[in-house]
Amino acid sequence: MNHPKRYTITAALPYTNGPIHIGHLAGVYVPADIYARYLRLVGKDVAFICGSDEHGVPITIKAKKEGVTPQDIVDKYHAIIKTSFEDFGISFDNYSRTSAKIHHDTAQEFFKTLYNKGEFIEETTEQLYDAEADQFLADRFVTGTCPKCGNEEAYGDQCEKCGSSLNATDLINPKSAITGNVPSLKQTKHWFLPLDKHEAFLKEWILEGHKKDWKPNVYGQVKSWIDDGLRPRAVTRDLDWGIPVPVEGADGKVLYVWFDAPIGYISSTKEWADRVGKDWEPYWKDKDTKLVHFIGKDNIVFHCIIFPAMLKAEGSYILPDNVPANEFLNLEGNKLSTSKNWAVWLPEYLEDFPNQQDVLRYALTANAPETKDNDFTWKDFQARNNNELVAIFGNFINRVVVLTDKYYDGVVPEASEFSTVDQETLAALKAYPDVIASSIERYRFREASQELLNLARLGNKYLADEEPWKLVKTDEVRTKTIMFVALQIASALATLSEPFLPFTADKLKSILGIDATENPANNSWKDITSKDVLLPTGHQIGKAELLFSKIEDDTIQQQLDKLVASKKANEVANKKVEPQKDTITFEDFSKLDMRVGTIIEAEKMPKANKLLVLKVDTGIDVRTIVSGIAESFTPEDVIGKRVTVLVNLAPRALRGVESQGMILMTEAEDGALVFVNPDTTTGAKVPNGLHIS
Ligand SMILES: [Zn+2]
Repeated sequence: MNHPKRYTITAALPYTNGPIHIGHLAGVYVPADIYARYLRLVGKDVAFICGSDEHGVPITIKAKKEGVTPQDIVDKYHAIIKTSFEDFGISFDNYSRTSAKIHHDTAQEFFKTLYNKGEFIEETTEQLYDAEADQFLADRFVTGTCPKCGNEEAYGDQCEKCGSSLNATDLINPKSAITGNVPSLKQTKHWFLPLDKHEAFLKEWILEGHKKDWKPNVYGQVKSWIDDGLRPRAVTRDLDWGIPVPVEGADGKVLYVWFDAPIGYISSTKEWADRVGKDWEPYWKDKDTKLVHFIGKDNIVFHCIIFPAMLKAEGSYILPDNVPANEFLNLEGNKLSTSKNWAVWLPEYLEDFPNQQDVLRYALTANAPETKDNDFTWKDFQARNNNELVAIFGNFINRVVVLTDKYYDGVVPEASEFSTVDQETLAALKAYPDVIASSIERYRFREASQELLNLARLGNKYLADEEPWKLVKTDEVRTKTIMFVALQIASALATLSEPFLPFTADKLKSILGIDATENPANNSWKDITSKDVLLPTGHQIGKAELLFSKIEDDTIQQQLDKLVASKKANEVANKKVEPQKDTITFEDFSKLDMRVGTIIEAEKMPKANKLLVLKVDTGIDVRTIVSGIAESFTPEDVIGKRVTVLVNLAPRALRGVESQGMILMTEAEDGALVFVNPDTTTGAKVPNGLHIS
């Protein structure tokens, strides 16, 4: 679409069973925000829409676990998530929630339209049923083995390992997530959207129509879905949490969360339009509207196949022009995980890095997982801040403002004749809005962020080459011209940085004295190219303030330590209890001869990381025992230790050293080995024979 009249931009509705982490921000919300802010700066009519996704099974499971209602869960996380978005400057025009009445009404109406048009198949099928819980099992209520990849922990709606979308009845060895019981089959009636019926349209619209302009990762996934063959998909569920199915004979049934959630974009748009006194319909129904869905790759099928099929079936809606889904962001080499607490949570980030939202926004953009999965590391975060934001962007602005203050009391000086370098620099400056815009419009936000930095580099190089701090002593006229040119670059940065670094842009505008919207020197995106003077002679700027500050190594180390701690805590929490071994007889037990010994010598086994060679006084004799404890203890740690020894274990050679017994060990919570430590004297017997009573 070349000249859209307006833009409807949606960002994936976050699911309200936890706070937001950096993966969400990098994958969806920062790129969507950059896009929306940019479009507003070039004067476009934009509706940037989002809201909380508050239905579905995981919320009900969490509520059950915590002994509260689903409404309690969604109220809590809706508030936390909304605050995080505000804190990080995500500039939604409306942030709604799917438990809102306007959404229930909109989703029910949408369902009824499709129902009345005969777009659904009504079918009674056998579904998995947990008799003890008196509940049908679908989605996250049931786990089992994925029929496609063999993953034993696949859910009833999706296998997270291979990404396959599943029906609960596809699972091999299904198990109820509520009671752990093996479910039975029971008949129930549901409504299905026959995706197979829309296959021809989807092929033509995406596979032919969007071959060139959609991202290869998105196009590829859609193609493999369509090539696999599409099947009817249930749009209703047997559940008591959600939007009631608005037809007769549907008691106890709600709309499937994936049917109602994308309609949330529409209801959120309605809520916004009501509030600001606009008509919502053109934003969803006018062919001159460009609809763009920002999502993560796990949502591609819903936004590229199911929702478009719903919109098409309804008949009065436009279809998305693009769905620029990102891949996943990893954290320090591991997959981000809410359940494993392997994440950087936004509220925690702000506690540790107050007022440094833009640093995270920038680091996540410069390293965004646009075409493949990418890794967030704290070292890279530090380098992006110190080497780019501080050393390039911040440094340039600081020099310009400090020198202007020092030489001219903060008043923009008058330029005389421009040298060739000045003219080239100003011409290069005028080209930047188009260069950055072109990257943004092609959803290449990483590239766009680097072009912004290049403009600051241009400024730094200009100052370094022209050296006004030297010329000021000899050539006042030339110095004024140089500072005038540098101030124009600073002014352009204040506008062009806004989509990426909104807090910094505000601060910079205030430093440059152009923060009021009606100020003629508060330039729009296009002004940078079209106006000859961005910051006029005589304009008063303010005092220098640091835009960014250096992040030290120990600050980064603290973050790394925090991650290691949460990894350990998680390992402890998820530790599996080994099942009890087969029963033994008392005779078997009494065969064990255990004594208290003292380690009198210890050394490392050469070329073996885990083994220590010990000399142990058992009270019977002093003998050699090879023990696999070298990862937990040094030889010095163990000399003199009193230990429990199984002395009648058949000797066995380890790396050529004969080991005559075994020292009993156990494990601490963090996995470190601990001696089974008798508080008695060497040689004492551990009673397991006739003395036991
Ligand atoms: Zn699988």
